[in-house]
Amino acid sequence: KLSDRLAAVASFVEEGAVLADIGSDHAYLPCYLVHAHKIERAIAGEVVKGPFESAVKNVKREGLDDHITVRLANGLSAIKEHDQVDTVTIAGMGGPLIATILQEGKDKLFSVKRIITQPNIHASSIRQWAMENGWKIVNEQILKEDGKIYEIIVLEKGKSVYDDLEIAVGPFLLQQRSDTFLEKWNREVLEWQRVLQSLEHAAETEEIRLKKDHLSKRIQLIGKV
Ligand code: SAM
Repeated sequence: KLSDRLAAVASFVEEGAVLADIGSDHAYLPCYLVHAHKIERAIAGEVVKGPFESAVKNVKREGLDDHITVRLANGLSAIKEHDQVDTVTIAGMGGPLIATILQEGKDKLFSVKRIITQPNIHASSIRQWAMENGWKIVNEQILKEDGKIYEIIVLEKGKSVYDDLEIAVGPFLLQQRSDTFLEKWNREVLEWQRVLQSLEHAAETEEIRLKKDHLSKRIQLIGKV
């Protein structure tokens, strides 16, 4: 059975999509989608040998060799032009790493219509990348599994402008204001306040002052939520 987190990512993949799942690890996501008859074809990309081999093994064991191609490759270089990939998923990594993968592989996105990302931390990097590179957010989801909170950001091509608060917390999530969303930002603000308080006792160097300033600004910004 797929985790709630990956099932949520899968729910944003459209029927009949040609998928590239980057950083696929065991290839659970493409295997699930093919078994569910939601898609017929997928590429599973992995840059590390161990996870790559486990993806190859899983795909074979599930009898999905004809449907899923596993490639040992860094980021979007797993995608070849003839694949006609129209959907990319990148899940289970930090936001900055996902943004770097998208930035470095921009020229591989020619036929891609939808990018579904699930950053574990710092989702803002992805929103910032989208705004600066001609992609817009078309949906977002936040969910909690085993005490951890995950965000999913779905992108399609198009112009977008987001303000600082939307970049930080997500324009759709901000609208929805779910309990999980409020819990996440309550937790974060409390943590920043705790750090800020501990800095009150530190010597007033330039570095400390900048850090305090940064934290106060974050607290003020997110406080609006
Ligand atoms: N996507 C799966 C999921 O969400 O359950 C696996 C997540 S796993 C924590 C992250 C995987 O991304 C690891 O297997 C890692 O080797 C792979 N990875 C990290 N950087 C990568 C890159 N630049 N290109 C391809 N894969 C990468």
